[in-house]
Amino acid sequence: MRVVIIGGGAVGSSTAYHLARDPAFKGAITVVERDPTYRIASSSLSASSIRQQFSTPVCIRMSQYGRQFLEDGAGLLAVDGDRPALGYRQRGYLFLASGAGAAVLRENHAVQTAEGADIALLTPGEIAARWPWMSTDGVALGAWGNAGEGWFDGPALLAAYRRKARALGVTYVAQDASGLVLRGGRVAAVVLGDGSEIACDVAVNAGGPWSARVAGFAGIDLPVRARKRMIYVIQCREKLAGSGLVIDPEGIFFRPEGTGFICGRSPGEGEADPDEPPLEVEEEMFHARIWPVLARRVPAFEAVRISSAWAGYYEYNTFDQNGVIGAHPACANLIHAAGFSGHGMQHSPATGRGVAELIAHGGYVTLDLSALGFERIIENRPLVEKNIV
Ligand SMILES: Cc1cc2nc3c(=O)[nH]c(=O)nc-3n(C[C@H](O)[C@H](O)[C@H](O)COP(=O)(O)OP(=O)(O)OC[C@H]3O[C@@H](n4cnc5c(N)ncnc54)[C@H](O)[C@@H]3O)c2cc1C
Repeated sequence: MRVVIIGGGAVGSSTAYHLARDPAFKGAITVVERDPTYRIASSSLSASSIRQQFSTPVCIRMSQYGRQFLEDGAGLLAVDGDRPALGYRQRGYLFLASGAGAAVLRENHAVQTAEGADIALLTPGEIAARWPWMSTDGVALGAWGNAGEGWFDGPALLAAYRRKARALGVTYVAQDASGLVLRGGRVAAVVLGDGSEIACDVAVNAGGPWSARVAGFAGIDLPVRARKRMIYVIQCREKLAGSGLVIDPEGIFFRPEGTGFICGRSPGEGEADPDEPPLEVEEEMFHARIWPVLARRVPAFEAVRISSAWAGYYEYNTFDQNGVIGAHPACANLIHAAGFSGHGMQHSPATGRGVAELIAHGGYVTLDLSALGFERIIENRPLVEKNIV
């Protein structure tokens, strides 16, 4: 069987790795990646954090495999005994809810606990006792991940997937995939920017923020758009002992990174969120929207300064902010894996494994990802994830 994966970011490269290591797969795997430097790929510009605190069971289960993969990854992705350093640090997420949000936090907690996630609900008093540097003004309830949450080195994970995939026989081609040859409603070949073609039995659309263009080659409307998100690196004179990744009720997050912290936010309801704007950092956003919230929550942040910042694209699913994994019935051998809307890095192990199973086994074997199938979009059944950071 000949498989061509379009896009060699974390999702495409994880798919290549998982497929290449599957004994049930016999065939050739080619990854078409137009930018081997990954300059503006989401996987390079990610905050690369992992949490168990989702509101949908499938996302929680994907994170469970993500966590396990990060724990075992150095061994799994080692090449000739050389183990990659994935930098996984286990530190919880702390979701803070106002009185209005507390019921949703409790509902999410019930779903997470039923899935086996170790999440503790904390009162404002318990939060103040554990993190005395944090104000609990306006906080009615918190949810803290005792296990399986934290952050890791995203570019190192991407490099390790690629290196291992290559070691297992995968070929990377540095070209733009500019079209598809369709025969009888199936992909027969992927057309490259230099005019050449790679014949295939299955194609995978792992184009990340640009995956709608790839779907469009087959006449399929994939509701995934490149939406800019900015990360600010801030330095604070005080040490904030035991800080995890904190999400304020106003949607702003911060977490330790190196000697400082990183922070950011997603646009609120009704705020402009254009498709594929230039990746310029807007400092004004930090001063006007982020810093006031940070300084209220953590008085030590009154005196922070920005030491650097960057912007990248979320591959944002405008339909329901969840990944789309699977084929559209109009083209059964083009498997999409995109639209993770800010959680694609931590879900890249589960996505890659799932897509590999679809190809090698004709269906899911370990974890059923059919809740994320294209059918829900066609049938207008959103799978709404309430915890989007
Ligand atoms: C600021 C920011 C913070 C984030 N924080 C987190 C986080 O904390 N945790 C988390 O889990 N996720 C996070 N994410 C999301 C996560 O980074 C993405 O979901 C994930 O990296 C998507 O991986 P991907 O492989 O689909 O996309 P990408 O890494 O963008 O890879 C897609 C690749 O496809 C290539 N490509 C596209 N079209 C073509 C074509 N036609 N031909 C050839 N090549 C093509 C591109 O060059 C690109 O390299 C964050 C993202 C951003 C931007």
